[in-house]
Amino acid sequence: MIDSFSERLLHWFDQHGRQHLPWQQNISPYHIWVSEIMLQQTQVTTVIPYFVKFLKAFPSVDKLAAAPMDVVLHHWTGLGYYARARNLHKTAGLIANEHNGEFPLTIKELEALPGIGRSTAGAIVAICTNRKAAILDGNVKRVLSRCFAIGGWPGSTVTVNALWEMAELLTPEDRVADYTQAIMDLGATLCTRSSPECGNCPFECDCIARQTQRIDDFPARKPKKALPVRSTTMLMIENPLGEWLLQQRPSTGLWGGLWAFPEGDDVIDTLQQLNVGNNCIQSQNRLDGFRHTFTHFHLDITPVHVKLRETPPAIGEKSICWYSPGASVEIGLTKPVTRLLKELG
Ligand code: SF4
Repeated sequence: MIDSFSERLLHWFDQHGRQHLPWQQNISPYHIWVSEIMLQQTQVTTVIPYFVKFLKAFPSVDKLAAAPMDVVLHHWTGLGYYARARNLHKTAGLIANEHNGEFPLTIKELEALPGIGRSTAGAIVAICTNRKAAILDGNVKRVLSRCFAIGGWPGSTVTVNALWEMAELLTPEDRVADYTQAIMDLGATLCTRSSPECGNCPFECDCIARQTQRIDDFPARKPKKALPVRSTTMLMIENPLGEWLLQQRPSTGLWGGLWAFPEGDDVIDTLQQLNVGNNCIQSQNRLDGFRHTFTHFHLDITPVHVKLRETPPAIGEKSICWYSPGASVEIGLTKPVTRLLKELG
């Protein structure tokens, strides 16, 4: 199967591949880079509207580099994994300032930029230059591990090395751009995680997982580890104008640079630190708690709705704002803020 893999895949792609994704129109390193970063951890159908809006707001790498971080995070709100947006902004700055606005098109130079790993670098080089470069995103890992029965969790060094070796071996010299798109398409449209359409797959007769009826074994799942649980109280402070008090998080770490409700286990203490005196408070109401799960821990959140009868004059720091959900303010919000504001209507 190794010798005929790319030929069969390209044959399938010519008939069934996706040709109309927004980043396939006017192909450029900038478009491919943004799409690849958005597609990490996120489904194509979710990415498409974000990509279109993002490109409208930042039509070039120079425009992205010149935009304030808050505006970039605003356009990322809802996509999650915000380090991707921060790295995108950082890398745009480096390309604008150190590469005269032109993307370097070697794997080595691309990999040196924040947020660009080996697979993203490979995709940019392969799709934009048609030069041989392998990729290994989540879709490709799934296809290769099933076709060639490569066991082990793809996050482990041994398995990922075996998968990279296979990816390099299979990547052809010709039509590399199409091949790269084709293998991503096969993983995204046919060889899906839970219901692969093997009957329509060009590798049905050779795929080891299919032939041995062990599709569910590949790729192996991440060994389970119980996630630690942390808890916090979020203060939803609302002034008489219906605006909410938000604080900007430090630029690094959890939800870096995003705007969030103030947190503190002692409600009165936290309000005092924000210079909200008792005389301003009209009511205080504990709402139903919920769990937000990060990759490395669960966060149990207890929201407390604090209604003010007047806006405290002392709140005027740069990292604090009164946010009105209806206004077109361009800031990035954390997921719990979006969720809680939606719930309160
Ligand atoms: S035969 Fe099925 S499991 Fe194997 S690569 Fe094709 S779709 Fe995936």
